[in-house]
Amino acid sequence: MTTVVSDQTTALRVRGLDVVFTGEREVHAVREVDLEVRRGELVALLGESGSGKSVTARAIMGLGDEHTRVSADELVLSDVDVLGLDAEQMRRLRGERVSLVMQDALSALNPVLTVGAQIGELFRVHRGATRAQARERAVELLGLVGIPSPQRRVDDYPHQFSGGMRQRILIAMAIALEPELLIADEPTTALDVTVQAQILDLLDDLRRRLGMGVLLITHDLGVVMEVADRLAVMYAGRIVEAGDADTVLTRPAHPYTEALLRSVPQAAARGGRLVSIPGSPPSPATTPPGCSFHPRCAYAIDVCRTARPPLREVTPARVAACHRSEEVLDGLR
Ligand code: SF4
Repeated sequence: MTTVVSDQTTALRVRGLDVVFTGEREVHAVREVDLEVRRGELVALLGESGSGKSVTARAIMGLGDEHTRVSADELVLSDVDVLGLDAEQMRRLRGERVSLVMQDALSALNPVLTVGAQIGELFRVHRGATRAQARERAVELLGLVGIPSPQRRVDDYPHQFSGGMRQRILIAMAIALEPELLIADEPTTALDVTVQAQILDLLDDLRRRLGMGVLLITHDLGVVMEVADRLAVMYAGRIVEAGDADTVLTRPAHPYTEALLRSVPQAAARGGRLVSIPGSPPSPATTPPGCSFHPRCAYAIDVCRTARPPLREVTPARVAACHRSEEVLDGLR
């Protein structure tokens, strides 16, 4: 593997990521995305469905198919420059140093194997553990992610667990080999609110204890408000605002972030009205000219319809792509 000189605290660094779906017609799904996650840090990638978040995650993990063209100026996972890796090296890196947790735990787990066998296999394949050692590590991991009576439950099958418990088992599998980066793609979407909060607390706790970076992908701003250190907001395949989570959530600089905040009940309750964002996000094949948010934006002016705003620093350590960020920050329409 190609090791690059990098800051040893970096779990993920992406610069200029582009993803194009090739087929009868090329569709540019993700453009010029920059992202950074340090070890022990939780960064949320936020946006409505169709904004390009999951496409970004799959591209980072090298999980595209033959109809996907991925390019980037830089793509570093932990301290490895993955742009120089072949398919086998990438597969090994994915298994050992970077993990992905998806939302549908039932289809991600093998129904005919006990959860202990599925977790234990990771230790047997990647660490050369014996059956007994692998079982012992599986019990430890089930305990770590909060499965009660792990000694007994290690021999149960996936269908014997609730949805929330199955999601914990997926997280146990994802952290088994102590990755430097965990990408969690809508890990709580299928769960009720209480279990959702428990899973987020678990991710929050594990990243601190294990010092792993977490990239949390979600459409739900309510989900990230409590746990994210930093936040990147995506719209129509591009990052439109990014920065320290407290700064962005307290005083957004992009109308889309502001609109997302107003649509979250607990945020709106702090003094704003609860409002939904009019219209729907554009498909990547029909992105509007100028600022792609302009058909839905309450701040839109003439220039927004023709000139795409560049991503620029609008306050220290925070970037936004909007012609009117200064007015948005001042609350002026
Ligand atoms: Fe709205 Fe214009 Fe800013 Fe786009 S550039 S978010 S349309 S004000």
